[in-house]
Amino acid sequence: MERVRKALVVGGGIGGMTLATALMHAGISAEIVELTPTWSVYGIGISIQGATLRALRQIGVLDQIISAGFVYSELMACDVNGRVTGRIELPPLLGAGNPECIGIMRPILQDVLRGALQAAGVRVRLGVSVASMIEDALGVDVRFTDGSNDRFDVVIGADGIGSSVRQTHFLSPAGQPFQAEPTGQAVWRAMVPRPEAIRARTLFYGPRNKAGCNPVSPEEMYIFLVQTIERQGHLPDDELPAMMRELLADFGGPIAQVRDQIQDPSRIAYRPISSFLMPLPWHRGRIVLIGDAVHCPTPQMASGAGLAIEDSIVLAELLAAGGPLEQSLVQFGERRFERCKMVIEASRQVSEWEKTPGLPGADPVRVLARANAALAAPI
Ligand SMILES: Cc1cc2nc3c(=O)[nH]c(=O)nc-3n(C[C@H](O)[C@H](O)[C@H](O)COP(=O)(O)OP(=O)(O)OC[C@H]3O[C@@H](n4cnc5c(N)ncnc54)[C@H](O)[C@@H]3O)c2cc1C
Repeated sequence: MERVRKALVVGGGIGGMTLATALMHAGISAEIVELTPTWSVYGIGISIQGATLRALRQIGVLDQIISAGFVYSELMACDVNGRVTGRIELPPLLGAGNPECIGIMRPILQDVLRGALQAAGVRVRLGVSVASMIEDALGVDVRFTDGSNDRFDVVIGADGIGSSVRQTHFLSPAGQPFQAEPTGQAVWRAMVPRPEAIRARTLFYGPRNKAGCNPVSPEEMYIFLVQTIERQGHLPDDELPAMMRELLADFGGPIAQVRDQIQDPSRIAYRPISSFLMPLPWHRGRIVLIGDAVHCPTPQMASGAGLAIEDSIVLAELLAAGGPLEQSLVQFGERRFERCKMVIEASRQVSEWEKTPGLPGADPVRVLARANAALAAPI
């Protein structure tokens, strides 16, 4: 038996917070270092699927999430004017009386996860990262950017798509760092008032782009739009509202109803999309990666956060079981890889169809329905 007693989590995002909480619940002392000096997060909504809710229940925050979000049970597909063309019943994973899916503001989700961290007694240091790590047979000596040092049984990189833990400690067989690839799409999101007709995640297929509406409260929803782009760069904040309104100009129905209310750049997020799946193994010695650091889907299934939270549950369970660390980390990758690959491949397939509208055989609703159903499998 090799007991993991002390873990360092690098990154205090959705995956890092849920992992540290799950580790503490499992009797393993967990500490987080987070690069940003404040708990800042953009004020846009996020969609939490059934499988993600199931994982959030395991860390004890489901009731808080339900009471703070907008609950729904289906995914709607519509034409450019809002006429319904398809409907996917989302799998009921939590049993009778529980929601299948929730829209919630990201700052509220973060507050709930921070509350769980604090209740579990996780030590968090903001504005601090790892300066260097030296591993031996029994542990990892870590020097931090604030000059302090400590020793851990295991280090988990939960530091997102640009993970510096990955870049410094994981190289491909050809000796290259693993990098996320741009997909040729960008996603726009803007907070607007919710029209009464929007009661579930609703997709609209237009001649140029796909758009959608996702309710987060009785009062508000976010509109998202997926755009095909040639360049990955960022756009000036003050130009975002007019650009997004123009991209949405094709759409009638509920989108036309609220389009002119897209005015405030601070309530818009524009992100070029990259996607990534690192081949196994997801660990090197005592250092392991979770979340976007190792698998980053395009947003078509709104499941990136869910996969990160599921990673946390599975890794905490395996580390707490107390087998040889190497074996636990191998099992972690094996339990997670195919499920993450399935989400990434289904999302990429839909993304490819979106980039070339009108392709024969394109059937995004079928692919999304099948992939959502597959997520019902236990983790
Ligand atoms: C605009 C947008 C909308 C999205 N909508 C959805 C959605 O509706 N549903 C869904 O399931 N997913 C959604 N996602 C995806 C989801 O946000 C990610 O998959 C999820 O946040 C991944 O969690 P993570 O903890 O792995 O990484 P992150 O949340 O990126 O967290 C990484 C953390 O590590 C920190 N960090 C980085 N480098 C270091 C370092 N060197 N040292 C210490 N800390 C470091 C970062 O500051 C950050 O806090 C969306 C993503 C975006 C960009």
